[in-house]
Amino acid sequence: MISVTSSGAPTPGAAPIRILSPKLGESLTVRFLSDYSGILVHWHGGRTVACQGPACNAAAHKKEVFWKGYAAVQLWVSVGEVWRAAALEVTEGLSRDLPDEGLRGQLWTIRRARSQKKGEPVTGAYLGLDHGPDLPPAFNVQQVMCHFFRVNELTTWGADNPIPRAISVFETKGSPPPKAGKARSKTADDGTPVASAQETRNFADAIKERLKTMKEVSANGEKPAIP
Ligand SMILES: [Zn+2]
Repeated sequence: MISVTSSGAPTPGAAPIRILSPKLGESLTVRFLSDYSGILVHWHGGRTVACQGPACNAAAHKKEVFWKGYAAVQLWVSVGEVWRAAALEVTEGLSRDLPDEGLRGQLWTIRRARSQKKGEPVTGAYLGLDHGPDLPPAFNVQQVMCHFFRVNELTTWGADNPIPRAISVFETKGSPPPKAGKARSKTADDGTPVASAQETRNFADAIKERLKTMKEVSANGEKPAIP
């Protein structure tokens, strides 16, 4: 069961909701309780801080603005076979894989690539729908994030990503381009025409034929003609 407590007497076994983000090479299975909402953040003082718009810390606000999304999810914990409530961090890369709405009840694998060198290492893969009667109501993820960022309110909550989405493309089937060897001729880097392999062979054959003719003429005692 979901371990969420409202203010009041602590519930035994309850723990604060964690912010969830897969580690390098890690795959997580999650069940969404809500769609994700975005906020704007800065990287300041060695950590991520929430951008508070006009009320933002002046030094932090001069820094680059990033977008982060957060969704109420349940993480599948195979040890103990439990669904554990968590606030899933949705990176720009992951937001490209997830639908903008209708996430509640959807099962996804969230994966981070083994290498940080790639631009957007977190991706998602849809597993199916699990919208059964045991699906608990979504907790207040905005409240979780206010606690995480140590602010009374998040003024940019619900912000769209200011960076336009990447354009996704698909490969198309087609016939191969002509091979260089089959081309009748091509030009060198300086523009000089270069003979193809076949043209070079034809030229060599013609020279051999000419030399053979010259030898035959010479054997007949006639003065060979200068080619
Ligand atoms: Zn700011």
